[in-house]
Amino acid sequence: MLLIAYHPIYKHPLPEGHRFPMIKYELLPQQLLHEGTANPADFYEPGLPDMGNILAVHDKNYVDELLNLTLDPRAVRKIGFPLSAELVERELRIAQGTIWGVHQAMQHGIAFNIAGGTHHAYSDRGEAFCLLNDQAIGAQYLVNNKLAKKVLIVDLDVHQGNGTAEIFTGNDAVFTFSMHGKTNYPFKKELSDLDIALPDNTGDEEYLSILRETLPKLIDEQKPDFIFYLSGVDILASDKLGKLGCSINGCKQRDEFVLSLCYKLSIPVQCSMGGGYSPDIKVIIEAHTNTYRVARDLY
Ligand SMILES: [Zn+2]
Repeated sequence: MLLIAYHPIYKHPLPEGHRFPMIKYELLPQQLLHEGTANPADFYEPGLPDMGNILAVHDKNYVDELLNLTLDPRAVRKIGFPLSAELVERELRIAQGTIWGVHQAMQHGIAFNIAGGTHHAYSDRGEAFCLLNDQAIGAQYLVNNKLAKKVLIVDLDVHQGNGTAEIFTGNDAVFTFSMHGKTNYPFKKELSDLDIALPDNTGDEEYLSILRETLPKLIDEQKPDFIFYLSGVDILASDKLGKLGCSINGCKQRDEFVLSLCYKLSIPVQCSMGGGYSPDIKVIIEAHTNTYRVARDLY
C-alpha cells in the first residue's frame, strides 16, 4: 500500500510559456493510477497546515509577506514563479502533505508527496521555485513533537539542498546529507552536515558506488529514527538543468538502494519528488514513477 499526498492545486497552472514543467504534477498521479501502482484510495488531499508548524522553520516576516503577497519584487524574482494567492496555498498544502506523510510513514513504513522537495527554500526567503521547505518543516515537526530524536535528510536531487542546510545549521537533531552536481546551481553552496559534490557527467556506476559506500555508514553512525528522501530525477543525463550522466535505470537503482535500506532497517521514510527537467515529459514521468514502483515492490 502506497500513501500519497496529492491535491489538484499541485498542478496550479503557471502563466503561458513558463519554463517550469508543471504538467508532471498532473501526469504522475494519472500514470500511477493507470498502471495500478497506486489506487484511488491511496491518495490523500492535504488541507492547510497549522501555521505553528510552518513558523517552526520559517521566519514570521517572510511567511507574512507570502501570505499578504507583499514580498519584495526582487525576492519574488529569486523564486522564479509569479507570486499569487494560489501559489502560496499550493506550497502550504504541499507542506501539510509532508506533515501528513510523516505520520503515515511511521505507521506504514513509507509515504509520498507528489510535489515538494522544495529544498532551496531558506528560513527567511525562497529561491529557485521553492517558497517553503516541506521536508525541513516535516523534520522540525517530528523533533518538536518528540516523534523522533534524530532525523536524516537524504537529498539526492542534482541540486544542493542549500535551504535545508541553512535551516538546520547547528541543529543536532537533524542531519542533512546532500549529494549533488558540483558545478550546478546553487553556485554558492551552503554547508550541509555531509555534502558530496559530483563532477559533471558522473555516470551510474560511479554514482551508485559512492551512494552504496556512503549511506549505510551514515545511517549506522547517525542512527536516525526517521528518513526524508528527496528523490529528484534531475540526475539523468537527459536533464536540461542537471549535468550528471545517470541513466533512467541507474536512477531507479538509486531509489531501490535508498528505499530497500529504509525497509530493511525499519526506518520510516517520507519521499518528496523534487526536480526533473528532461525535455521529454515521458522520461520525467517514467523516472518519477519508478520511485513508486520500487516502493510498491518493497512494501
Ligand atoms: Zn533539482
